[in-house]
Amino acid sequence: MLKIKTFVFNPFQVNTYLLYDDTGQCVIIDPACYEDPEKLALADFVGKEGLNPVLALNTHCHIDHILGNNFVTGKFSIPLKVHKDSMVFIKNGKEYALSFGFEIEEIAMPDGFIAEGDIIEFGNRQLKVIHTPGHADGSICLYEHKAGVLFCGDVLFKSGIGRTDLPTGNYDNLISNIKEKLMLLPDDVVVYPGHGPDTTIGMEKRNNPFLLGNW
Ligand SMILES: [Zn+2]
Ligand SMILES: [Zn+2]
Repeated sequence: MLKIKTFVFNPFQVNTYLLYDDTGQCVIIDPACYEDPEKLALADFVGKEGLNPVLALNTHCHIDHILGNNFVTGKFSIPLKVHKDSMVFIKNGKEYALSFGFEIEEIAMPDGFIAEGDIIEFGNRQLKVIHTPGHADGSICLYEHKAGVLFCGDVLFKSGIGRTDLPTGNYDNLISNIKEKLMLLPDDVVVYPGHGPDTTIGMEKRNNPFLLGNW
């Protein structure tokens, strides 16, 4: 069974997700821990559950989602993968961080890239990469088919969508990616966004004011 542990980290209240199954192998999505107690909470959980982290992933590389990249890759000696279009955010991460009042070291370079259609395997699980720019270049969603769960970063929220007024944002791209790539998934797929509560594809089809139409 796929297990999902959610942490809410840093002043931007980012959801950091730990996915793991009976094998103990664990993938960390959007390591956003910033303060020492947040880092400790994550490491404690991994230790207590006896997990074996194997990979860190960013749904996109806005500063609030990558604040803990250096910590988890160093602490667990694991690679980090992002979409290559995210590199602009990684390269300028330290400056972005300072502009928001975060003191961080240079953000570590990723160890590899992920792209549309890639399948990421861990334990007995497979995460499919869905490329969904519009909120930020390099935005991806991760779909675990067997469990029926989607991790979508800041693309889709419960009754909302990601903002598009930041650099590389594009409203039309965002809406078409949501409609053409995410709304094709089964209605009962549970959606885990980068901020706020989870929802389902079906609930967003019915209730999301940005997605009204004939589904
Ligand atoms: Zn974002
Ligand atoms: Zn965010």
